[in-house]
Amino acid sequence: MATSIFGNCETFSSELSDVQNIKTLLAPSKFNSTNSPLPLQPFNHLSEVIAYLKFPDKTKITPRLIESAFNSISNVSPSLKTITFDNIDGEQTAKRMAVIAAAGSHDVIMQGPPGTGKNVLAKCIHGLLPDLSEEEISQCKSIHSAAGLFLKSSINRPPWLSPHTSTNMNGLIGSWSNLKGRGAIPGAWSLAHNGVLFLDEFAEFSRGTLEACRAPLESKMISLARAAGSTTLPASALLIAAMNPCPCGRGNGDNASCDCQSNEIRRYRRKISGPIADRIAIHLELGHEMNDSIENGTKNMSWTEAKNAVARVKKWVDNNPGEEKFVNGPTLTEEASELLNSCRSVLKLSHRGMYHVHDVAMTAALIDDSPVIEVEHIAEAGASRLFDRQSWMNPR
Ligand SMILES: [Zn+2]
Repeated sequence: MATSIFGNCETFSSELSDVQNIKTLLAPSKFNSTNSPLPLQPFNHLSEVIAYLKFPDKTKITPRLIESAFNSISNVSPSLKTITFDNIDGEQTAKRMAVIAAAGSHDVIMQGPPGTGKNVLAKCIHGLLPDLSEEEISQCKSIHSAAGLFLKSSINRPPWLSPHTSTNMNGLIGSWSNLKGRGAIPGAWSLAHNGVLFLDEFAEFSRGTLEACRAPLESKMISLARAAGSTTLPASALLIAAMNPCPCGRGNGDNASCDCQSNEIRRYRRKISGPIADRIAIHLELGHEMNDSIENGTKNMSWTEAKNAVARVKKWVDNNPGEEKFVNGPTLTEEASELLNSCRSVLKLSHRGMYHVHDVAMTAALIDDSPVIEVEHIAEAGASRLFDRQSWMNPR
């Protein structure tokens, strides 16, 4: 059914319907419809037009229909609120690192066989983030608007973007519009600004798309250049990447638990290049409960305690940006400093890797309300550099 928006003329010809196959006219409700030769759909607001175009079979545009239309093109899902740590059995180490990631805005990559809770843990990290401030909501609305999307004014939860592995570089990073007068179109990284970008099946994205994540991982900004000039888009999203241990998804890569050959596993894992893994602060392995060193420790938190700790630490980190937190935050004990230095030689960490271990350990100390970074904070941050281990890149 062809549809036309018609509102500026007082009269029109019935030939319109014959020539252009127009069946319905959309017009402002104040429009004089007495001479209309066609069915006329009145509207008071553009949101009603959007709802009508989204659900053309509905005869009446109700407030509920408008809300449904906007929900379907919004990327913020309030239903994510209902997922908590109660939805994951065990995995205390992963839950602890989820709290640290949310509090310190540390990017995460996790590996584990299907069914080990990678997806649920990612939603938990999103659920731990505090509601957006008015300023953050305004930023999200501006970015969505530039992409031709809408956010409901009532939504105050951080964005949650989970693009499919077929998403190309433009979809993830952004692009320039071909339309005259239209500028840059934000990609998923920018649409997830102030929220979470969840890239499931991380190794299944094309290599070029993965490598394009280097810049936003490093600077939380995206620069788009073209002959006529360049522009910068905000991309301060928390990246959570998830992948299987091997191509078939059933094995753990450490022994003969599946039929994947060593070279197949190696090729699969090398899709995650060193520079990408290096830029991600927390590397997690799920599905290895035997290695869950703090399963029975004292650090298990209830969901409410975790949310409160994240809000408290996040506020402190926001007030001590960049290097200020290393000046004003918990300092390393002598033992912790020694262990941090030994991480460099034992794990062969880069400068960036060392920074991540120190940074994550500081967030852990802040979560524990500790005035100093203890040796166990460095230990747990160092243990979360899975992808830096030689055994990970060269399995079996
Ligand atoms: Zn396998």
